[in-house]
Amino acid sequence: MRKKIIAGNWKMNKTVSEAVDLASAIKRELADCSAVDVVLCPPFTAVKAVSDVVSETLITVGAQNMSSEENGAYTGEISHSMLKELFVRYVILGHSERREYYKETDFWINKKVKKALEKNLRPILCVGEKLEDREAGNTEKVVEVQVREGLKDVPADAYTELVIAYEPVWAIGTGKTATSEQAQEVHAFIRGIIKDMVGKEAADAVRIQYGGSMKPDNAAELLAQPDIDGGLIGGAALDAKSFAAIVKAAM
Ligand code: PEP
Repeated sequence: MRKKIIAGNWKMNKTVSEAVDLASAIKRELADCSAVDVVLCPPFTAVKAVSDVVSETLITVGAQNMSSEENGAYTGEISHSMLKELFVRYVILGHSERREYYKETDFWINKKVKKALEKNLRPILCVGEKLEDREAGNTEKVVEVQVREGLKDVPADAYTELVIAYEPVWAIGTGKTATSEQAQEVHAFIRGIIKDMVGKEAADAVRIQYGGSMKPDNAAELLAQPDIDGGLIGGAALDAKSFAAIVKAAM
């Protein structure tokens, strides 16, 4: 039985005081969320403040990116040790916005995934096809490359720690959700790739979230699919009641 995981990706939204307000409101809404892993991923500047708000709850904190390097002359980067000192448990890696706007490649994403695992941070590896890939019938090809390259050399026993987020790029922030059948099909395909890469036990254990305009009104149907183990939520994560409603749909 895989425990469902709902993560809110706040992207480049919320100042520290706004983040404290949002995290406090989510905490009030989710007094008992033990049935689901709940992760809040604020911008770096608000990580400490959000960690403080949720410190005595089961809600955990994630970051939206991390350097693959230890420390040193990497202007603008944030290392694993900086995150861990702020009680960060998860880190989103390879989000489509980072692939698209900052030209992150599978090679670097893989380095980050391995660094996170080595340092006991749980990567949330994002994969997903663009609209043109889907229309050209290339969804599986694109997703397979991202999964195989992103998880290259990751040992089988790490799959209980890492999370994969399948996020069709055409569904992110667009209001267009993949149907539950479309999402399930790709989730099952991804699980099959993991089985081929590292075996059935790891494939059965790894959690695969769906992301892309997940909202309170479509969450239950998506989350009822056998290979959908949670959600990575963008827009709806910025509203405490909407986010809490999605978490409750996963219970
Ligand atoms: C995301 O960016 O990870 C995401 C899923 O965004 P949204 O929910 O807004 O589509």
